[in-house]
Amino acid sequence: MSENVYTQEGVAVRFKNYLMANGLRQTKERFAILKAAYELPGTFTIEDLQQLLAEQRFHVSTATLYSTTQLLVQANLLLRHPFSSSTTIFEHIADDKPRCYQICSNCHRITRIKSKEVATNINSYHPRRFHVTHRVLYVFGTCPKCLSAFRKNLKQINNPHTDETAR
Ligand SMILES: [Zn+2]
Repeated sequence: MSENVYTQEGVAVRFKNYLMANGLRQTKERFAILKAAYELPGTFTIEDLQQLLAEQRFHVSTATLYSTTQLLVQANLLLRHPFSSSTTIFEHIADDKPRCYQICSNCHRITRIKSKEVATNINSYHPRRFHVTHRVLYVFGTCPKCLSAFRKNLKQINNPHTDETAR
């Protein structure tokens, strides 16, 4: 089997090993949360996770969700993105694909960078004496929508009468 793919069983074993190595309990809630997190595609929030678990008739407290996602981040099975200041956004990372995003500093819009060249370059970095678990690249800037809004505002500031109708 390629290392590039993961299975529910594979991530469960990794989580089990992490819990055992750290002397933590292997509860059915923790494994249900892991399973649900890996059923959600792409990025997700605690609320998405809670909703999916509720649909599966598995009720866990918000406190358990927060503590378990924290454990999954520490176990290198979930990535906590620094995208948003108000909502915590997660993504699962058990495969070895690099994650590349561009983020608008103004509206916080996130788009995935789908460049093979960027992915290849990130994957070619092999630090010495440092075990890499996952690779994530964030590129910050201004999205086209915000850029055009800024230009429009600037134009209005420089030519205040252009948008005014008959005076
Ligand atoms: Zn923007």
